[in-house]
Amino acid sequence: MPIYAGLEAGGTKFVCAIARGPDEILLREQFPTTTPNETIQRTVDFFRNQPHPLDALGIGSFGPLDPHPASPTYGYITKTPKPGWSNTDLAGPLRQALNIPVAFDTDVNAAALGEYRWGAAQGLETFVYMTVGTGIGGGAFANRRLLHGLMHPEMGHILIPHDRQRDPYPGFCPFHGDCLEGLAAGPALEGRWGRKGQELPPEHPAWALEAHYLALGLEALFTILSPQRVILGGGVMQQPHLLPMVRDELLRLLNGYLQIPVLLHEINRLIVPPALGSNTGVLGAIALAETALQPAG
Ligand code: ADP
Ligand code: ZN
Repeated sequence: MPIYAGLEAGGTKFVCAIARGPDEILLREQFPTTTPNETIQRTVDFFRNQPHPLDALGIGSFGPLDPHPASPTYGYITKTPKPGWSNTDLAGPLRQALNIPVAFDTDVNAAALGEYRWGAAQGLETFVYMTVGTGIGGGAFANRRLLHGLMHPEMGHILIPHDRQRDPYPGFCPFHGDCLEGLAAGPALEGRWGRKGQELPPEHPAWALEAHYLALGLEALFTILSPQRVILGGGVMQQPHLLPMVRDELLRLLNGYLQIPVLLHEINRLIVPPALGSNTGVLGAIALAETALQPAG
């Protein structure tokens, strides 16, 4: 059985793992994301200085990035607000150092693939994995393959209605201000209420507003992509009362338009947490690594 290397390259930390699958994670290490040189070197060192022969590497990375193998900047993080990381070749140096096939995609596409392979999206044709953490990102799996298109989806940056009377907070997105991410990712909770999400009690009005914004995002997703499931992960979703509020608010916003039995009667099965828990990201990278050994198609 092949042994895979997985890298979850995040804006705050890199998580590396060596695994055969979800039940056989042989090694796992994480370290903070510093400069590109230092962080990539540490990743190379981790994968080199361990005893297992590696068959392929999967990288799920923060972006925006170039996921198109035929492009000259394939494997690069392209233009990112993260200081120092714009135009960084991430996949290239790792492929050269380890000399194994590499698959490269967004962190959320990787997480989607991991949930498809072993988690909450097994057997589905079309679904979305969305994370609500430091930012908001979504990976789309459509007609049994990851969706890229022009670049890759950037679902966190959709523009949603913003009632400034109800919510004067301007949003924190450096590009759009009050896009979905700007209004509803973790830093928006802190910016609006002066306290981090983990410190806001369940009865705080923050949560109804948060559920409203996330449901607006889901309304767009369900009407555009018609996903058979949406998996909602990330730090902010660890608030157990939030997911039921989001489901209720989505039904309210849809206002009976989509007459789909699972939506109307079993929404608990339609909008779900990740099944792989805190390993979703790195197992997603392992699932990507598997694809590096499969013929294209
Ligand atoms: P990242 O997006 O950087 O990978 P996370 O998904 O953990 O990491 O997201 C971090 C954000 O989530 C922070 O803004 C933090 O305040 C928020 N957060 C983390 N844990 C919780 C929690 N239990 N409840 C609400 N918000 C949380
Ligand atoms: Zn934005």
